[in-house]
Amino acid sequence: MIKSIALVAHDQKKDQMISWVKAHEGTLAQSTLYATGTTGGRINDETRLHVQRLKSGPHGGDAQIGAMIAEGKLDALIFFIDPLSALPHDVDVKSLLRLAILYDTLLAVNEATASRLLSTG
Ligand code: PGA
Repeated sequence: MIKSIALVAHDQKKDQMISWVKAHEGTLAQSTLYATGTTGGRINDETRLHVQRLKSGPHGGDAQIGAMIAEGKLDALIFFIDPLSALPHDVDVKSLLRLAILYDTLLAVNEATASRLLSTG
C-alpha cells in the first residue's frame, strides 16, 4: 500500500484523470491523497474520494507538491501531463519532475504506468 499520493492533471487530461480515479477508487481510498487545486476540486466533486487540495498548479500547486517530496512527505506522484499544449508554468512542471526523480519518488506520467503503479504498490 502507498501511504500518500499526489494527483495532478493538466487541463486537457482532467477528464482522463477523473475516469482513472473512478476506476481505482477502492485502491486510492487506502492512501492519503493530495491534488493541485482544480484537479482536486473535480475529484472531490465527481468521485467518492476526498483529496486534500493544494493551490492550483500555475499558482504554486506544483511547487507545493515538489516541497512535499523534498520533505519526504509524499510517496507517489501521478501526473497526467498534456504533451500537446504549451503551459505557462512549464518551469514548475520541470521542477516537480526533477524533484520526483531526485528523491526517487514513485512517478507515473501516463495512465498505463499509473495503473501499473497502483497494482504493484
Ligand atoms: P490544476 O493544476 O489541477 O490546478 O489545474 C494542474 C497543473 O496545471 O499543474
